[in-house]
Amino acid sequence: MIIECCNLKKEYTADNTLVTAVDNVSLNVAAGEFLVILGHSGSGKTTLLSLIGGLTKPDSGEVLIDGVENWHQGDDALSDMRNSKIGFIFQFASLIPTLTALENILLPLTFGKTPRGGYQQALDILEMVGLPDKANAFPAQLSGGQQRRIAIARAFINQPDIILADEPTGDLDEETEHDILNIFKEYNRKGTTFVVVTHNIHLARTQLDARILEMRRGVLREKVPVAA
Ligand code: ADP
Ligand code: MG
Repeated sequence: MIIECCNLKKEYTADNTLVTAVDNVSLNVAAGEFLVILGHSGSGKTTLLSLIGGLTKPDSGEVLIDGVENWHQGDDALSDMRNSKIGFIFQFASLIPTLTALENILLPLTFGKTPRGGYQQALDILEMVGLPDKANAFPAQLSGGQQRRIAIARAFINQPDIILADEPTGDLDEETEHDILNIFKEYNRKGTTFVVVTHNIHLARTQLDARILEMRRGVLREKVPVAA
């Protein structure tokens, strides 16, 4: 298993109210799997992805990536693991406004000890996401959907083994959503493991060959794939 979550729990207190964002979640993801987690807003999807990626420390439970527990290693080892193994696609594009599209895509390479991608690969990915002519554009010169595609391209530059994607097609039209999912599928065929979380039932319906789980109020459970 490339990802093993065991009895994960994460609680938040806001306005004196305790919310169990992730409630005793256990989950195994095999290398090369394409997993979709479907759930309404507030069901705990973003928190779960952040726990899996080692960005948030659980209150209890464990996350093992390739057999190594995220928080049983030092901070340096954890950030090395994140940089070398995981590509994050965040819910909001989070591009650096003072860097061009191409520079934003190349940014993760500056953190990794042994970067696997490079300049030419960034141009290739830019073409894959349909924006070959936007290499030198700044984020403010791009539409929301274009910024999102740059953020998706950035997640692939390090050739990560795992992609964690939070509402990756959130503000994209159906055609672009389709293109992006096809890119995901192409990487998945080459072996990249995907965990995609979304509230978008339409996205889940188009992923009939994916494993689909449902999240409700922090609890994860099996879901029978819905017919298109
Ligand atoms: P989803 O991504 O499915 O919309 P989230 O994981 O963002 O769900 O949130 C799950 C629950 O945890 C929500 O009730 C949310 O308000 C709460 N929550 C998430 N992050 C925080 C935080 N940093 N502080 C307080 N409450 C939070
Ligand atoms: Mg969310």
